[in-house]
Amino acid sequence: MLELKNISRIYRVDDVETRALDDVSASFRRSEFVSVLGPSGSGKTTLLNLIGGLDHYDDGDIIIDGVSTKDYSNRDWDAYRNHRIGFIFQNYNLINHQSVLDNVELALTLSGISDAKKRELAKEALERVGLGQHLNKRPSQLSGGQMQRVAIARAIVNNPDIILADEPTGALDSKTSIQIMDLLKEVAKDKLVIMVTHNPKLAKDYSSRIINVEDGKIVSDTKPYKGGKDDSIRKPERYTSLSLPTALKLSMNNLMTKRGRTILTTIAGSIGIIGIGIVLALANGAEQYADSILTDTSIASPITIERVYMDSSISSYGGVSGEKQWHEGTLLAIDDLSNNSAVTRQQRVRFNDTKTLKKYLDEHRAGTDDYIDQINYDYDIKLDIYDGERKVNPVENSDETGLASLFADETQSKEVTEGDLLKSGFKEVVSNKPFELLMGRLPEKPSELILVVNQDKELSLSTAYTLNLSKRTELDGAIGKLNKGEKYQFQNEVFEYSDIVGHKYQARFGDGTNEDLEVVGVATVKKSGDKSGYMGYTHDLAEKAVRHSNGEYNIDEPATISIYAKSEIDKDRVATLLDSFMSDTGVSVYYVDQMKAMVGGVKAAISVASSVLIAFVAISLIVSSIMIGIITYISVLERTKEIGILRAIGASKRDVVRVFTAETIIEGLVAGIIGVVMAALLCLAINPIIKTVADVDNLARVSLIRSLILIAISVGLTMLAGYSPAKRASRKDPVEALKSE
Ligand code: ADP
Ligand code: MG
Repeated sequence: MLELKNISRIYRVDDVETRALDDVSASFRRSEFVSVLGPSGSGKTTLLNLIGGLDHYDDGDIIIDGVSTKDYSNRDWDAYRNHRIGFIFQNYNLINHQSVLDNVELALTLSGISDAKKRELAKEALERVGLGQHLNKRPSQLSGGQMQRVAIARAIVNNPDIILADEPTGALDSKTSIQIMDLLKEVAKDKLVIMVTHNPKLAKDYSSRIINVEDGKIVSDTKPYKGGKDDSIRKPERYTSLSLPTALKLSMNNLMTKRGRTILTTIAGSIGIIGIGIVLALANGAEQYADSILTDTSIASPITIERVYMDSSISSYGGVSGEKQWHEGTLLAIDDLSNNSAVTRQQRVRFNDTKTLKKYLDEHRAGTDDYIDQINYDYDIKLDIYDGERKVNPVENSDETGLASLFADETQSKEVTEGDLLKSGFKEVVSNKPFELLMGRLPEKPSELILVVNQDKELSLSTAYTLNLSKRTELDGAIGKLNKGEKYQFQNEVFEYSDIVGHKYQARFGDGTNEDLEVVGVATVKKSGDKSGYMGYTHDLAEKAVRHSNGEYNIDEPATISIYAKSEIDKDRVATLLDSFMSDTGVSVYYVDQMKAMVGGVKAAISVASSVLIAFVAISLIVSSIMIGIITYISVLERTKEIGILRAIGASKRDVVRVFTAETIIEGLVAGIIGVVMAALLCLAINPIIKTVADVDNLARVSLIRSLILIAISVGLTMLAGYSPAKRASRKDPVEALKSE
């Protein structure tokens, strides 16, 4: 069954050659008990390792079942060790972090038997060696003799044909030695046992054949075998591999025995993940928040084209558009226009050809229904509106900035006037703003008005006065106090909606005609920034005023064109429309999507900020991966013996890689989970802070998918970090590995 043909094994250390085996030939029977005797260093262990496929011969051949092993691949040797050989060592070679039962089961794991069957066979083997009561003990809790029994159980559990025992009783007292020998003889009755021993008496008592070795040569053989009938050809063994669950279990047990270190490693590994998790949660939440602002229909923002605009400013400048005496290219100092501006900048006035654009839009409006909700033409007209003989709009003396400018500069010793407190109370209503009607109905004709109150359903007292709804007593009091430098708190005044609905005004146009107006409803606009409220008139009224302006305004040339797209995405189609306008007419227009400019800027800032943060945090991730790599490397050093044991029972190099990869997977997984959970918990703590600081609810949002991706990244990184140590482990020479402690 087994034949050694002129085997030589030469070790080279530096320039010194040692012929551990020198031209050894021997044949073995299918069933016999062979003892190998010889002085220390004579090559006994080398012989055994070669037979067991743990070491490889330099010369000659080993014939197994009539087949030369010269062409054996690594996998063939692995399968051979796993199925045909049972090893027993002097120093037992058990895995200390595994239970007795697991140690025995390990040998079966490689043969691909079902879990239940494995357990059954392992228990059976342990019962056979008399350890049925110690299944769950660790090897370190057993005596030397008991440990050797475990090793014997492991060697026989797979029912191999050949048992190789290298001084199995070398570390045991004589009484225990006899027990072990009895056991060995008993369990290996019908097998080929090759036992190396120092003890000639044991050899004589137990074996059927004694081979003496000296200086790497066989010097005597009591019962040589010349080959015979039992040389049957066996089918090649099935290739086997260590399953991932077993690799995980092995590594899990190992990690559990070094609990403190494992915890520290995974916590360190999780720090980077925590950081990235929080940054992602914040960026995620911030982006969603920005998007929610952008897509909030209640504050739908138009794309605007201003007839007059400043070339370097994105937003329109309120005071500019009405001033007709400026022409293209006029330079003006911006701080002349704004009291609050601290900088003196010069900007160039530019004109958009709104006339051509309006004509174009009017012509093409029909085909734009599916993406344009509404197009508004604003003429920047100041409607002259009267309540009886009192002019309520535009308010005389009003500088439009109202209270804001009054309090902007406290050192300014300016007399407070009525105009400072009053603002224009009339505005054109943009009909696509979703009103919440409080009373009456929406205006439909030029003669109809609607009172729009603020979000809290209030109207500021000054606006109420402007609209001639309130008495001016309080306003006088306020002006008096403010002029004395005292603070003034406006008192509340209660209006009934019914008092307001039905109130009448009159609009007077430039050509002397007029239009009687009546308030037909009260409404509020959700999320409006307007705190003071206003009286809304229809676009039709504004157009009517333009037509009756006696040539002051031109209906074909609006001051502002506002295009309301149906959705944010549809804004792109509006842009396309404007582009085709430009290419069709050769007229270029400058248009602005204020909301997009603003929110887009915020989003860009968020993504830049989070990229920078992630870059920083990624460094800590890399550091922790390197650390896990180092820990794995240390683990490889610590588990060297285990590698040897695994190889001895038939594990392939790939199986060894798998064991250490399993270790890094566990570490990466635990680190990832800790990281993601900690990040989520920290977000719970961060959100209330953001709520108080920025008044945004639940800004930091942990996304499940991103969390899973992070865990995957953690596992991936640690696997990467552990790959090279794992590879190194697999390349270890099994014989060397077994010698290590
Ligand atoms: P035994 O088991 O009979 O005591 P070994 O088979 O262990 O002897 O060793 C036989 C010879 O080979 C010894 O001289 C030993 O020093 C040498 N040897 C064994 N293994 C190695 C090795 N890995 N590298 C170098 N020399 C070795
Ligand atoms: Mg030896």
